[in-house]
Amino acid sequence: MQPKTAVVIGAGIAGCSTAYALAQRGVNVTLLERRAEIASEASGNPIAMLYPRLSSDNAASVFALAAYMHSLALFKSLDLDATEFNRCGLLQMGFNVRELARIKKVATQNHPADTLKYLTQIEATSLAGISISHDALYFPDAGWVNPQRLCQRLTEHSNITLLTLTNVVNIMKNNDIFLVYSDNSLTLSADIIVIANANDAQQFSQTKHIKTQAVRGQVSQLSATEISRQLKMIVCSDGYLSPAVNGQHCVGATFSTDKNDLNTTQLRISASDHQSNLNTLKTISKSLHNSLYGNIVGGRATFRCTTSDYFPLVGQLLDSAALKSTPPRPTAAAASLPWINGLYLNVAHGSKGFTSAPLCAELLACLICNEVLPIASELAGLCNPNRFLLREMGLKQLAKTLAYAQN
Ligand SMILES: Cc1cc2nc3c(=O)[nH]c(=O)nc-3n(C[C@H](O)[C@H](O)[C@H](O)COP(=O)(O)OP(=O)(O)OC[C@H]3O[C@@H](n4cnc5c(N)ncnc54)[C@H](O)[C@@H]3O)c2cc1C
Repeated sequence: MQPKTAVVIGAGIAGCSTAYALAQRGVNVTLLERRAEIASEASGNPIAMLYPRLSSDNAASVFALAAYMHSLALFKSLDLDATEFNRCGLLQMGFNVRELARIKKVATQNHPADTLKYLTQIEATSLAGISISHDALYFPDAGWVNPQRLCQRLTEHSNITLLTLTNVVNIMKNNDIFLVYSDNSLTLSADIIVIANANDAQQFSQTKHIKTQAVRGQVSQLSATEISRQLKMIVCSDGYLSPAVNGQHCVGATFSTDKNDLNTTQLRISASDHQSNLNTLKTISKSLHNSLYGNIVGGRATFRCTTSDYFPLVGQLLDSAALKSTPPRPTAAAASLPWINGLYLNVAHGSKGFTSAPLCAELLACLICNEVLPIASELAGLCNPNRFLLREMGLKQLAKTLAYAQN
């Protein structure tokens, strides 16, 4: 039966798009955010790029393309204007042997020309408005989005009540109703809960076993010059450079995993990360690098939330204590497992949350409302939020066959 009420915890792109997907189906959603504003943590960069990174026909690539198409359709449907969502196009350059081989392979996969197209260096230069030194894969519909405006637009739905400055500290289940407690003494009840609070997803007693990693990243903002203003679209090498938006380019992003480096665990702006972003700029275009080199006017650092296999964690949770006390057989049926009925997760969107989170929100809403899933269940199964727990218990096969079957 479709739930009447839901609480969604965390108002980044994952929480806002989940709230929207449920609200569209008539569920009354209360969206809780600990900060004063929505999209204040990982989802709070000045602009976010929307594009897929494709490779051979593997599952990650199929998922990335489906997610990209879904975000494109969703963002278009929200009537955002060109200062909020701008499909300026994007070039992925074959800037080294490996990347050139990758983009050539993708180009042979018979994608429609309005999805992607292989361009020679001369064609890429003529489209981009600046000199491009390599052949490139062109995504005509890709672009950038203003994250705060997007999240605001998603939460303006009449079935969504947004409560900011509400830090959820505890979740309990009483018969079939969930109770949600915040540290400002608010208690809410709901039929279902979706946890969408990224790196803090492990904070609840029901979610302690969830394994994610926080990965620091920094973008740099550069004031545009007469030369750089000619850039018409986003250009990617091992990072990305946006065209000038409100007089500034955004270049990024760093990916810091070295635990011995203080920069990895702190969010103050780091000069070495600015340097690393400038190095990316150099790979993209020497002339733009020379033109923009001294123009850093700001930056922003936050933590991504990732998993070791880079797929997000999306779906209903199993009760880990009950599972461990009575381990199931590797051939157990989904219905026989100890599910926490009504407790869901939508986290770990890594470096591409604006592409992956909206599709995962739709997937979750279909699952919750008993609709046909928007992607093949084998693909959805790669996001199963219980996969690491099952693998850890030696139930690798069950994690696989369970796929997206639920109770
Ligand atoms: C430098 C950098 C550049 C990036 N560039 C891009 C890009 O160009 N394109 C792209 O697609 N992706 C990009 N990403 C990745 C993208 O930003 C993330 O994947 C995405 O923002 C994750 O969204 P989220 O909603 O899962 O997490 P978040 O945005 O972090 O949202 C989680 C929310 O939960 C709230 N919260 C936490 N605990 C609680 C609690 N107990 N109670 C209430 N609220 C709580 C937090 O305050 C926060 O608002 C980038 C990431 C970084 C770091």
